[in-house]
Parts: sequence; C-alpha cells; structure tokens
Amino acid sequence: VTAKELPTIRQLPPNLINQIAAGEVIERPASVVKELLENSVDAGARRIEVSIGGGGTELIRISDDGCGMTAEQLPLALASHATSKLPTDESLFHVQTLGFRGEALASIGSVSQMTIRSRTEADESGSELVVRGGVIDPPSPCGCPVGTVMEVRNLFFNTPVRQRFLKTAQTEKGHIVEAFTRIALANSHIHFVLNNNGKPLYDLPVTQRWSDRIAAFFGDEIAESLIRIDSDDSQIGVQGYVCDPAVSRGNARMQYLFLNGRHIRDRSLQHALGEAYRGLLMVGRHPVCFLRMSMPPEMIDVNVHPTKLEVRFTDGGRVYSRLLQTLRHHFLTTDMTHRVGPPA
Ligand code: ADP
Ligand code: MG
Repeated sequence: VTAKELPTIRQLPPNLINQIAAGEVIERPASVVKELLENSVDAGARRIEVSIGGGGTELIRISDDGCGMTAEQLPLALASHATSKLPTDESLFHVQTLGFRGEALASIGSVSQMTIRSRTEADESGSELVVRGGVIDPPSPCGCPVGTVMEVRNLFFNTPVRQRFLKTAQTEKGHIVEAFTRIALANSHIHFVLNNNGKPLYDLPVTQRWSDRIAAFFGDEIAESLIRIDSDDSQIGVQGYVCDPAVSRGNARMQYLFLNGRHIRDRSLQHALGEAYRGLLMVGRHPVCFLRMSMPPEMIDVNVHPTKLEVRFTDGGRVYSRLLQTLRHHFLTTDMTHRVGPPA
C-alpha cells in the first residue's frame, strides 16, 4: 500500500456521531414516542399527553407535568451522554430509572426539528430551546406551565435513507400505539392521553386497579378472563394477571412482561410461560398475560441493548424457575375450568 492509497482516519464531528447513534435508538417514530414517554415518567409526571400527526413523522408532541428543566439544563439535556439519572458512576449498576444513557434527546434532535419548552416549580417562567438537525439555538424565555413539552417535527428530514424505510402513516401509528400501550400499562398511576391527527384515541385516568387499565386497552373479553397472580419471595416478585386459556393467541404478542416498571421481551421467560400452560393450550397457541416482575436492580443488567428491550439476568435460571413455579402453583390451586372472577 502506497502512502497515496492510505485512507485518512478522522474524528467524526459531534453531529454525525449523534446521527449514527440515532440509527441505533431511533428506528421509527414509535422509538421517539418511547424515549420521550420514558423521560416524562422518569420526570415524575402525573399526566402525560401525546399528540401525533402523519403517523408521527410530521408531528410528535408530548407534554408532561413532571419536574421540568431550567434554562441552564436545557442545552445539557440535548448533549450526548448527558444524563441526570446516574448521579454517581456506581449508579450504573443499580439503575432505578427508565433512562440512563443520556442519548435519546441528542439522537432525536440530530434527525428532526425539535422544540423543547420546560419550566421547573422554582422558576417564574419557562424556557424554550430549538434544535434542527443537531444545530441548537440558544434557549429563550417563554411562558409555560410547570413541566415539559417536547415537540418533534419532520423526523428524518435530514436522513433520507431512514425516511425511505418508513412505512405508511397507518403502520407507523400502529407502532406508536404499541409503544404507548407498553408504557401506559406499566404506569397505571399516571394519567395518559393519546391524540391522533387531532382526534382522541385514548384517555386513561389514573387507576388503582391494574385490570382497569388492561381493560381500557384490550376490552372486556380479556379483562373478564384475568386470573390474578400475586407472589413475593424475598427477592423476586411476580404480580399481575394471566388469562384463562380460552383467550389464547396465535402469537406471543399479547404477553406483556414488565420488569421493575420496564417493558421487556425475554425468550426464556416466554418459554417459562409456555411451559406453565403446557396441557392447557393447543399446540401453536400462546397464553395472554400481563405480569409485573420485580427484583433488586443488582440482579439485572439493562445495559445490554440500546433500546433496553432486552435485559440480562445475573441468575437467569432462578428467574425462569421462579416464574414457572409461581404460575404452576397457581394453576394447581385454581380451578381452571371456570373463571376466577373479577380481579381484586
Ligand atoms: P436519559 O433519559 O438517558 O437521561 P435523555 O437524552 O432521554 O437521556 O434525556 C437527557 C436528560 O434530559 C435526562 O437525564 C433529564 O435530566 C432531562 N429530561 C429529558 N426529558 C425530560 C422531561 N420530560 N422532564 C424533565 N427532564 C427531562
Ligand atoms: Mg431518556
């Protein structure tokens, strides 16, 4: 290789770095909705309203009444690898929040036109910050209630390849509804609203009974077939509902698993579910369930996947058998031939 042919190694500019990072985390409009909703939940919001237009590609607006941000914090929130959620380096090993990577806002801001309006309780007025394709304008004062409004327009306007991979507005809306469903299911103590093209799709007031929120999404047939599961050993808790075998599905999509408040997908736990229902379902049918598992954060590594959909357990075998045993025990002590009645 002659010197002439030698390629140059160059440090990429921050904007390009963010666009590349966005490729990992922001796959489609639903990814934006997921990330922004998680931020609102982490901010302690009690009411979160989502409005989308054009399948989320034209507009995603998320308003919350959470802790808000000060004018000084706003530019930092947009910087990559900047987060308020890891106060010490050790916090990474016992993450309690949904976010911690400090990458979502930087990523979204680099592939869209985003406006943030935010105000904290302590501040008289709020501030506004605009970022277009990663170029950040200085914050300016604005009037707004305590909390945060994130407005994302023209997603992928500067990344045409990404744009071309988008499906129809209807399909993208479907993905957004799924992302919304997962987070609203995991947080029935928060009032959620979803509007699509100016029309209300969901309005979900705070509820003490998880089954109310499940019913709001999946209707009465599912709600009436819920079988309550409530089991706690010293470390691993399993709470929620499994469904009567009569309402099984042809795929595993209606298996909602939450771990410490985070929706997860886990093949091994899905397998445990299938095992628990063995003999109760026909081959090829999958149980429906809504289960919240809890365990000490030290037993989980959530930092294995950029979107954190998958987690790693320090003792996967123990989690597997815990879920299986809990359900088996329940089925053995429950008459599965008729429903257990409305959930408590
Ligand atoms: P992460 O959630 O991993 O910390 P993000 O890029 O999603 O990273 O957000 C960066 C920071 O911006 C957060 O750590 C938080 O301090 C702040 N932030 C983002 N969204 C909100 C919100 N809705 N309300 C209050 N603060 C927010
Ligand atoms: Mg976040």
